[in-house]
Amino acid sequence: MLNIVLFGPPGAGKGTQSQFLVERFGLVHLSTGDIFRRNIKEGTELGQLAQKYMNEGKLVPDEVTINMLKAELEKISNPKGFIFDGFPRTEAQAQALENLLDAMNTAISAMIALEVPEEELKKRLADRAKTSGRADDADPAVIQKRIDVYNAETLPVKHYYEKIGKYRGINGQGSIEEVTQRLIEVINTLH
Ligand code: ADP
Repeated sequence: MLNIVLFGPPGAGKGTQSQFLVERFGLVHLSTGDIFRRNIKEGTELGQLAQKYMNEGKLVPDEVTINMLKAELEKISNPKGFIFDGFPRTEAQAQALENLLDAMNTAISAMIALEVPEEELKKRLADRAKTSGRADDADPAVIQKRIDVYNAETLPVKHYYEKIGKYRGINGQGSIEEVTQRLIEVINTLH
């Protein structure tokens, strides 16, 4: 299996790039943010719980997020591989993901990070707010909070994969096609 963690701060382009990688490599896209938003739309208990955290730019608690991801993984039979987008966001989530994949006799092939400077992220998120309808994109204070949470809680996950030799960083600036090309080049070195 080819299992990619697509990593990067809010606005780095993880969702956009995932769509191309799904087509190109036949992978299953699992975005924890998308799954939470689907639950919010459907008015589930999980959605109601997650919404409070998301609107404030905070992380949904690990236990809730990990259980949700586990349930999603169990729904999929015979995948060629996964793109994890927005997960893992904490070291506890990274450890949980390792255990879940291990139980499926597979592992993360690589974490690929989209590197984008903070000023560019803020511009992209403010732009996205015009069309996304996402409350967490519309408020600059919430955008700043998400970037701060990323730096404090999520960046350590990079070291988790660096230590096991699975971290690859690429430049996330340039056109969408240029970034896709860089991703494909890295993925082609993995198998
Ligand atoms: P972005 O990368 O632009 O912040 P996401 O859709 O990935 O957008 O995440 C939106 C929000 O959903 C996060 O700010 C957080 O509240 C919640 N969320 C998503 N994934 C996770 C996760 N793995 N752990 C905890 N919270 C998460």
